[in-house]
Amino acid sequence: MSNIAVTHSDSGFLPVQVLDSRRVSPHIVRVTFGGGALENFEYRGFDQWFRIALPVREGSRLDNLPRKFGVGGYLRFLTLPRNSRPVIRNYTVRSFREDPRELDVDFVVHGTEGIAGPWAVGVRPGAPAAIIDQGCGWKPVPAAENLIVADESGMPAALGILRDLHAEARGHAIIELFDARDTQEVTGPAGVEVRWVIRDAGSAPGSAALPALRALEVDEDTYAFAVGESSLATGARRLLVSERGLPKANVTFSGYWRLGRASPS
Ligand SMILES: Cc1cc2nc3c(=O)[nH]c(=O)nc-3n(C[C@H](O)[C@H](O)[C@H](O)COP(=O)(O)OP(=O)(O)OC[C@H]3O[C@@H](n4cnc5c(N)ncnc54)[C@H](O)[C@@H]3O)c2cc1C
Repeated sequence: MSNIAVTHSDSGFLPVQVLDSRRVSPHIVRVTFGGGALENFEYRGFDQWFRIALPVREGSRLDNLPRKFGVGGYLRFLTLPRNSRPVIRNYTVRSFREDPRELDVDFVVHGTEGIAGPWAVGVRPGAPAAIIDQGCGWKPVPAAENLIVADESGMPAALGILRDLHAEARGHAIIELFDARDTQEVTGPAGVEVRWVIRDAGSAPGSAALPALRALEVDEDTYAFAVGESSLATGARRLLVSERGLPKANVTFSGYWRLGRASPS
C-alpha cells in the first residue's frame, strides 16, 4: 500500500551497465551503474527511485520496453512474451556522481528467494540492465518537524532525504535494521536526530521501529515519511494518523516489499 503519487520524469528508458559491485556490509551490496545513457538521467536527490529492468531470463530483451512505466506502459509491458521480458523491480538512487556519470544502488541481500537481491549478489561488471526513472516520494507539506521511518530497504531513501534536507531542518529519523553491522554513516542536519533500532532475528519487520515511533513525542506540526516492509509503512501511518492525529496529507507512506510475497512481474 502506498499514497505516493507516481511521477514520471523525462529521463525515460536508460540502458546501463554494471561497473562495479561490492558488499559494503553483511546484508548490503552496492552496485554502481554507468553508460552513456546516464547523460539523460535527471538527478533529483532525496529518495529518488526508479524501476530497474533486469534481463535475467534466457532470451530476455531490453530493446522493446516502454519508455515510461505509467499505467499504459505497464500494460504494454505485460503484453510482452513472459519468457523474453526482463524482470522489473523498484530501487532508490543511493548516490549519483556527475563526472563521469555513475549511479550507486544499495541492494538488500535477503537470501536466495527473488530476483533482484540474488542478482545483485552475483552480478559482474559489464552486465546489462535498464533503468526507467520515476521520481521522488518525499513531498513535504509545510511543517516545523520532519519524521522519517524506514527499514533496511528504505535506508537509501532515508539517508538520501537526510543528506538533502536543508541545514536548519528539525525532526527525527528511525531506521530499523535486522543486523546492526549494516548501519551506514549519516550526513544530515544537526537538528534531525537519527535513531537506529535493531529488530530481533526472526521477528516481523516493524517490530523495533513501531515501538520506537510510539515512544516518540510527535509534534502535531510534522511531515512524516514511512517506507519499508508493508506492515511497517502502514503501521507507522496508522499510528501517526489514528493515534497522534496527524492529517493524512502529512504522512507519505509506501510498502516497499511484502513479507512472503514476491513483487509482481
Ligand atoms: C520506491 C521503492 C524503492 C525501493 N528501494 C530499494 C532500495 O534502494 N534497496 C532495496 O534493497 N530495496 C528497495 N526497494 C524494495 C525492493 O523493491 C523489494 O525488496 C523487492 O521485492 C526486491 O525484489 P527481489 O526480486 O529481490 O524479491 P521478490 O521477488 O520481490 O521477493 C521474493 C521474496 O523475498 C522477500 N523479500 C523481498 N524484499 C525483501 C527484503 N528487502 N528483505 C527481506 N525479504 C525480502 C519477499 O517477501 C518474497 O518472499 C524499494 C521498493 C520501492 C517500492
